[in-house]
Amino acid sequence: MREEPNIWNATEDLRGTAATLIRDHHKHLIPAHIEYLWRRKARPIGGRFTLGSAKLATEKDLALAGRSIHFIITVAADFWKRAPEGKQVALLDHELSHCGFDYEGNPVLYAHDAEEFASVIRRHGVWREDLQPFVNAAKQLALQFDAEPKENLTDERAAQKLEMVA
Ligand SMILES: [Zn+2]
Repeated sequence: MREEPNIWNATEDLRGTAATLIRDHHKHLIPAHIEYLWRRKARPIGGRFTLGSAKLATEKDLALAGRSIHFIITVAADFWKRAPEGKQVALLDHELSHCGFDYEGNPVLYAHDAEEFASVIRRHGVWREDLQPFVNAAKQLALQFDAEPKENLTDERAAQKLEMVA
């Protein structure tokens, strides 16, 4: 048997951050039953690290839990431990954005607004209409980060900023 579990129940800090996000940005999820789990390490999938995931609860999940669950959100504990609060919130906001209900009230998962390779955008620009709102949002955010006075950034925060730009 494994000494350390790979997956375990999420702690209050993650649940609290999720509750705040739901209240502020995902009100349609207020009645949702969401379970939160830690995964010990971010999983390398398709050449990059998967920091979190959102899935619909299966019938087996419901049977094991013995209660209603709509969604299961899993977050990489190693990422959460070293990430600044802003990135923790962004990751959870991302996972919650996958969750919703259809017009009959059934839980559904939403796909990403846009999926594209950075290299294709570099070579061909914003060639698909669905990419434009994504690029606009990224530009807006870049402006906000640029507006931060650099002298107020500690070395650590400056490094994180570089990481985000890269
Ligand atoms: Zn996603």
